[in-house]
Amino acid sequence: MSLMFTGIGVSRGIAIGEAYLLRRNQIDVTSRALTKKAVPAEIRRLKRALKSARNQLLTTRDNIPKDAAADVSAFIETHILMLDDAMLAQRPIEIIKAELINAEAAMQQQREELGRVFGSMEDTYLATRIDDVNHVIDSVLRALDDGIDDVVGSENWKGQIIVADDLTPADTVAMQHHGVVGFITETGGQLSHTAILARSLGIPAIVGVPDIRRYVKAGETLTLDGAGGLIMAEPTDDMLVDYKRQQKEYRLKQKGLSKLIDADAITLDGVALKLSANIEMEEDFKALKRVNADGVGLYRTEFLYMNSDTVPTEQEHFKVYTKVLRALKGSTLTIRTVDLGADKQMRPGVAPGNRPLSHNPALGLRGIRLCLSDTPLFVPQLRAILRASAKGPIRMLIPMLTNINEVDQCLKLVEQVKLKLAEENIDFDNDMPIGAMIEVPAAAVSARLFAERLDFLSIGTNDLIQYTLAIDRVDDQVNYLYDPLNPAVLQLIKMTIDAGLKANIPVAMCGEMAGDVRYVRILLGLGLTDFSMPPNLLLETKKCLTSARRSSIKKHVNLLLTSSHNPQERHRLLDKINSTNDN
Ligand code: PEP
Ligand code: MG
Repeated sequence: MSLMFTGIGVSRGIAIGEAYLLRRNQIDVTSRALTKKAVPAEIRRLKRALKSARNQLLTTRDNIPKDAAADVSAFIETHILMLDDAMLAQRPIEIIKAELINAEAAMQQQREELGRVFGSMEDTYLATRIDDVNHVIDSVLRALDDGIDDVVGSENWKGQIIVADDLTPADTVAMQHHGVVGFITETGGQLSHTAILARSLGIPAIVGVPDIRRYVKAGETLTLDGAGGLIMAEPTDDMLVDYKRQQKEYRLKQKGLSKLIDADAITLDGVALKLSANIEMEEDFKALKRVNADGVGLYRTEFLYMNSDTVPTEQEHFKVYTKVLRALKGSTLTIRTVDLGADKQMRPGVAPGNRPLSHNPALGLRGIRLCLSDTPLFVPQLRAILRASAKGPIRMLIPMLTNINEVDQCLKLVEQVKLKLAEENIDFDNDMPIGAMIEVPAAAVSARLFAERLDFLSIGTNDLIQYTLAIDRVDDQVNYLYDPLNPAVLQLIKMTIDAGLKANIPVAMCGEMAGDVRYVRILLGLGLTDFSMPPNLLLETKKCLTSARRSSIKKHVNLLLTSSHNPQERHRLLDKINSTNDN
């Protein structure tokens, strides 16, 4: 009998394969008392296990395909660093010595201690880090239990769909290497490891399907629709034929997109578009070149801070920016000043530490607020951006602005930095454009004032939606309320675009909405022409926009904005907008 399951579709594509039920061997964490004499041997056993877990991760890292996105290896690097950290490499040894217990019990005790520490931080980013800690501790426990591999066996994975409670980054990478065609996990959300990695690796995936392993049998045929979040177990012959057709169509579509690489980005009624890329790591520029993006619309510089044990120096910033500039060969690089805080934190203990943790990090000292309150942190980045502006076209983008006072403070600080550089005879581009992220409702409402003072605006819908609708963007429990089509959100976007038009300055969008084919035509209808998105979404977005006629979309978009708060009516209008194919 066929069974249907639904979950959160986190990576698109259709997979058809046999179910591989992943049930890891139970890890034994029974506590045993040791004699004092047995302690050195137990410590050696733990050290061997740490080494073996480390070697396993190094092998996984070496097996990552060269063209995989940078965040794939970043996850593995984080786990290697955690294994080397005193919290796992030293503290359990101290526990063995002090409490005369076996290595497994000491690791377990340390897991509980870290769980308490991380749990009390009330911070979403650190909350996800505890998942990493747990994965790493499990790998050591498996290595202690000789014979249980950490990365689960790889014998029969070709053509299989893995069904698991959760997957570690190491599992996900290893499985891709062995021909797995899809992932299903019982836990997780849009921002879980499995989701992020599956998207980077291009493997269809669905997460958040509780208890699916109780109903699906090993070896059963499964179909997985990663866009719709739909799974069929033991589909009928007719269903199978239909899924195979959908799979073929999807693959053909992906192939066909490559024809668009060199096509002009222009709508059917002649509206010229700018399609640029969002990058997070310097290595991401390779992906951007593959799709021929119009430069970088958002370079998130937080990762320079988050992936380091020290605050980056001016020279380190400068080196990275000039490297990316060289790779861009003359196209524009939009560098966003650091947007730390909320879901983007530096490692514990790295400055700016010792600040009281906010109960509401998303509403706390983040982005430009942090930078203006800590100029020794901010100025080296400003200097580096200005110095790099002498080497190629750079725009500077400021995140999380909420009022004009902050804009004025930033502009004043930039002027001071320029004066200092001039005194030191250091080159910079005096006309380097400076722009604001519009990602807080207050900024959207005041966009006219922002536009009068700045050279460009860029709409950050990820935060704009979060703050407008009062929903934490990384909280799976309220994800269902995250609605880019909410009329209040659309009105704020429109106000921002209109403010830019009136002041005759460019307005871009760099939030996820700008690369989501369900919404980009609406944005076009609202007057947006400058879209910045993850590079792997660029060609699909290009196809969707270049096959549209802005003049035919506008009337539906106006209705969406003004007349209808009824969700069904809004979705009907959306279908109309997206089915208008003037090809
Ligand atoms: C946004 O908020 O839309 C945005 C692009 O910034 P980030 O996702 O880095 O907060
Ligand atoms: Mg943001």
